[in-house]
Amino acid sequence: MAASKIDLSVIIPIYNEEMNLVPMNNRIIAALSPLGIHYEIVYVNDGSKDNSLPIITGLSEENASVKYIDFSRNFGHQIAISAGLEHAMGERIVIMDGDGQDPPELIPDLLKKSLEGFEVVYAKRKKRKGESFLKKLTAKLFYRFLANITQIEIPLDTGDFRLIHRKVQKVLLNMPEQHKYLRGQIAWIGFNSTFVEYDREERMGGNTKFTYGKMMRFATDGISGFSNWPLKVATMLGFAVSGIAFMLIIYSLYQKFFGFTEVGWTSLHISVLFLGGVQLLGIGILGEYLGRVSENVKNRPTYIVKNSNIQTLNES
Ligand code: UDP
Ligand code: MG
Repeated sequence: MAASKIDLSVIIPIYNEEMNLVPMNNRIIAALSPLGIHYEIVYVNDGSKDNSLPIITGLSEENASVKYIDFSRNFGHQIAISAGLEHAMGERIVIMDGDGQDPPELIPDLLKKSLEGFEVVYAKRKKRKGESFLKKLTAKLFYRFLANITQIEIPLDTGDFRLIHRKVQKVLLNMPEQHKYLRGQIAWIGFNSTFVEYDREERMGGNTKFTYGKMMRFATDGISGFSNWPLKVATMLGFAVSGIAFMLIIYSLYQKFFGFTEVGWTSLHISVLFLGGVQLLGIGILGEYLGRVSENVKNRPTYIVKNSNIQTLNES
C-alpha cells in the first residue's frame, strides 16, 4: 500500500451536536495547525435530528480537510466511530467526542507520546465535571467489575478518547463483531500503550445522548464481548441450587417416613419460587449471549451510509 499522505485523522461521532460543532471544529484546527502536519477531521453524523448535518457539510465546503459520513439513521456511538475508523486515511488516528468533553488541546500531547513509539495512547480522566453523581458512580463500579471478570486489561477511567496507530486500526477492521466495545477491542489487540492524563470538562452545549438504557446495553456489550463469567455464574448457581435441592429431598423423604408431612406449604412455595427465579436468570444470561451470536450470524452491515464526501464511499 502506498504511504498515506495524511499524518493524523480525527474521528468524531455526532448525534445532535448543532451547538458544539463549530466551536469544536475551531478548537481542533487551532490545536493542530501549529503542528505543521497533514490532518483530516472525519465527522460521522449518526442520524442527527437537528441541524448538525448542514453545519458539517458547511464546514466541509469551507475546508477540504473536513470529511463526513452521513448515516441513514442512528446506529449508535460505537458504530459511528467504527465507520470513521474504516475510512480514516491517517497514519495515526484520534477518536474523540464532539461535545467538548474530550479537549482537542490534548491531541498534541497524545501525538507526542505516540511518536515516542506507543501504538495506543489513551487519555485518562483525572476528574469528570458536569456529570451526575450516579453516572460517575455506576461507571466507576462497572469498570472495576469488568476488570475483575475479564482476562484482558481494559485501562480504568478511560473512555474512547485516544490515539491509535494505523497498525491498530488495521486489526480493528478485521474484527467484524456486530456489538462493538472498542475500548475492550483495542485493549485485546495489545501493542505498546501509554496514557496522558486530563480533566474531563463539561459538555459545551446540549445534553448527554447516553440514556441509562443505552448505558446498560453498552455495559452488556462490554461484558458479553470480553467475559464468559455470567455463564459460569449461571452454572455455579445451578450447582448450588441442585445441592440445596438434594438436601431438601433427603429431608422431605425423612419427614415422610419418620416425621410429619402435613406442614410444608411454606417451604414448598419458597423452593418453587427460588428454583423458578434461578432458572429464569440462567435462561436470561444464555439469551444475552445467544442473541449476540444470532446477530453475528445474520452479519448485516453495521451501518448504512446515506451520503459522504469521502471518495471511496461514493464509488460503488
Ligand atoms: N453519539 C453518537 N450516537 C449516539 C449517541 C452519542 O454519535 O447514539 C455521540 C455524541 O454526539 C458525542 C459522543 O457520541 O459526540 C458522546 O456522546 P455523549 O456526550 O452524549 O455521551 P457522554 O459523554 O454523556 O457519555
Ligand atoms: Mg459527552
